Amino acid sequence: MTTTLAIANQKGGVAKTTSVASIGAALAELGHTVLLVDLDPQACLTFSLGIDPEVLELSVHHVLTQGVDPLEVVIETDDGVDLLPATIELARAEADLLTRTGREHVLRGVVEALEEADAGYDWVLLDCPPSLGVLTVAALTAADGVLVPLQCETLSHRGVGQLLDTVHDVRRFTNRDLEVWGVLPTLYDGRTNHARTVLETISQTYDLEVVEPPIPKTIKFAEAPAAGRSILATSRTSKGAQAYRAVAANLVTRSQRPRATA
Ligand code: ADP
Ligand code: MG
Repeated sequence: MTTTLAIANQKGGVAKTTSVASIGAALAELGHTVLLVDLDPQACLTFSLGIDPEVLELSVHHVLTQGVDPLEVVIETDDGVDLLPATIELARAEADLLTRTGREHVLRGVVEALEEADAGYDWVLLDCPPSLGVLTVAALTAADGVLVPLQCETLSHRGVGQLLDTVHDVRRFTNRDLEVWGVLPTLYDGRTNHARTVLETISQTYDLEVVEPPIPKTIKFAEAPAAGRSILATSRTSKGAQAYRAVAANLVTRSQRPRATA
């Protein structure tokens, strides 16, 4: 059985991409098979896993808009995870899909096809772009759950209500089984009470679970993408890497929870 998790927040810079790469690498360390899908035309996930988007002939764009077999596009990475890469062409997919009936379901079809393939993945992690556009809605439509990385600053909750409205619409119209797995505190500065207060306020206001532990803010994260590896490889024993390992273990437990029936 595949667990498909969308990592979404329309705010940029909250560590969506970092979380996808790091949780993916941590799940692979635990022996799970993992596919990461780069849904951001900026292709930061693709780049940070050591692949130059400029030289790719095929990308997730071709899978979504031209029906290319995803297995023809998937790349193995040094982090032990497979990647469905993005290129800047994906910016066009958003426009191409806009006029297409059933666009919300394009990614769901791909994920289902992969699940039926012999080598079905244990996990598919979807790295959403910083918007609530077609690609994010397609990701939420394909997902079993959504995880919301959140930088615990005073104004960081402003987008959460909007994101949850979108989740609500997706549940009504395209994926009634979508579950909110919770918020993941990122770029967390545990030395201040402020971060904890913001986190508590947000989780209470929106009735959201908090996925533990918080990911500490550390300079080590800046070094990983340039090396083309996740922080689990570039800084194996750092607090950031350890935190992502613990989060991944908690997500495995979460995936075993009986599903609430819609
Ligand atoms: P998003 O995908 O939400 O836009 P990214 O994952 O690209 O966010 O992260 C934004 C920036 O923050 C990147 O430069 C990344 O290296 C940095 N970053 C992510 N997590 C941490 C952390 N825990 N500590 C310090 N810097 C981080
Ligand atoms: Mg990103």
